[in-house]
Amino acid sequence: MRGAACGAALPDNSAPCHCGGRQNDMSKNKRLQKGLDDLEAALHQWLGAFENKDRLVAVHQHLKGLAESARSSGVGELSARALRIEKPLAALVANPGLAAQSAIQTAAALQELLAWDAAVPPQHGGPPASQPQQVAPKGATAAPIYLFNSNPLLGEDTAMQLRYFGHSVVVVSDIERVGSAIEKRPPSALIFDFEYREDLMAKVAALAHARRPPNRHYPIAVISTRGNFKARLAAARAGVDCYFTKPVDAAALIDRLDALIVSKVAHPFRILFISDDPAGAAQYSDVLREAQMDTRMLHKPAEIFEAFEEYRPELVVMDVHTAACSGIDLTRLIRQNNVYLDVPIVFLSHDDSLSHELDAINSGADDFLAKPVDPAHLISSLSSRAERYRALRGLIMRDSLTGLFNHSAIKETLAREVASSERTRTPVTLAMIDIDFFKRVNDTHGHPVGDHVIRTLSRLLQQRLRRGDVVGRYGGEEFAVILPATPATAAIGVLDEIREAFSRIRHHADEGDFTASFSAGVADVTAHETADALFRAADAALYEAKHKGRNRIEAG
Ligand code: GH3
Ligand code: MG
Ligand code: MG
Repeated sequence: MRGAACGAALPDNSAPCHCGGRQNDMSKNKRLQKGLDDLEAALHQWLGAFENKDRLVAVHQHLKGLAESARSSGVGELSARALRIEKPLAALVANPGLAAQSAIQTAAALQELLAWDAAVPPQHGGPPASQPQQVAPKGATAAPIYLFNSNPLLGEDTAMQLRYFGHSVVVVSDIERVGSAIEKRPPSALIFDFEYREDLMAKVAALAHARRPPNRHYPIAVISTRGNFKARLAAARAGVDCYFTKPVDAAALIDRLDALIVSKVAHPFRILFISDDPAGAAQYSDVLREAQMDTRMLHKPAEIFEAFEEYRPELVVMDVHTAACSGIDLTRLIRQNNVYLDVPIVFLSHDDSLSHELDAINSGADDFLAKPVDPAHLISSLSSRAERYRALRGLIMRDSLTGLFNHSAIKETLAREVASSERTRTPVTLAMIDIDFFKRVNDTHGHPVGDHVIRTLSRLLQQRLRRGDVVGRYGGEEFAVILPATPATAAIGVLDEIREAFSRIRHHADEGDFTASFSAGVADVTAHETADALFRAADAALYEAKHKGRNRIEAG
């Protein structure tokens, strides 16, 4: 995506060509790039809500802006292409009731236009050969998914389902162009949507074969109507990572691709160093940092509980030997608190006498490393303990169907976030979300299909919310979302987009495809100061949303 991955702001009423006039110093290429970026951002917004007239108007304005800056930059071909799409788009603006098919067709044409820099040779009056880089997308972290389908309309239809999950998807309808698109910009994943054909599979095999780390390790998926052994075997031989038969379930496909997208860096382990020897501790902590762990120093034992509360260590290294307060005393202190019973504690010590080691273990320590510790030994011993702790915590705190925080974990997190918002004087919002008429889904399609809808919403929430937001399954078909540093008004905007996206996702069942919706209630700390009050207010607002007809959000 051209730097517009996460909800780029809607443009104001001035078309982008106006700012070209205002900022004469902006180079032509930059202006062109901005035009493409803005158009893509607007297109992405519109694809998230096809019926939203304002968004459609924004796309139209940006398209006209792009045509104009392409013309004034001497890139006549791009300008002409933009103007060719402008007509059907203007018709849509004038008559938003036109068939969805024509909207999809226009969206597909716009996607093709956005792939323009990959297609136009310099002799068309475009930028010189060394320039296309400048027109290339800037949002390097949000690499797009390339989706091949020889029919751009069908491709666009699948792409839209994937986009609801927040992915940037570019449809490519000519398989010969997939390779050049990858050259221009490595994707996060490739999806081939086709009927099995030997020549097409050979092309996929060649592309799979050409993948090289570090930036070419993207997964490849095939979607096909055929699920027979021969077709699957051919795909496996070609190097395809996952194979889906139609009708494909967007949530399942995204789930699988995300698990395979290696670029997602895991959070580093959080290691708390409690030490009375700052210089010595710094040495060890440097070693751990080099091994991609996160460390925090604590030299004042009296601040231990604040450090736990704030940093939530996944392992404690204890290197305290003063008479006033020993490591053994501190370990007992930590273990007195139920919440910290299971955080691993590792002692560092010069004293390798067995009696001291036993004292440490008896106080509740997990391991004992005699100084000087070999760096490799330090890393492996700490990381394996931190990893096990994280895995166990995950099992205790997470819901097995969705992998989200469970009821008690979300309550614990909200209490912490409310306390932190009080300290930092920033707002925090709680949203309670409940799927509408879910009993009917179970009754009509069966419990497993109902489970699937729950997982789809869970996946959507995880994909569309920010990294710092916390999503939990509060019970059955009910979810709780905590949005730190966000007032209720802003949270409603974000959740409303998710609500719209969810209501457009197709779920598959033997009886036929269907859609579902949810209602939500939100409340923030400005009106409700405690965690309990927030829960009550959000719940009451949810009840109101149900009462007012469902598929809506109310504030409490
Ligand atoms: P409303 O719009 O008022 O929320 O209606 P509703 O039908 O969603 O509400 P109700 O609370 O009556 O129904 C919730 C249903 O969710 C009842 C229960 O059987 C079902 N349910 C709860 N947990 C699960 C689960 O884990 N999986 C499935 N498939 N169904 C579940
Ligand atoms: Mg419900
Ligand atoms: Mg319910």
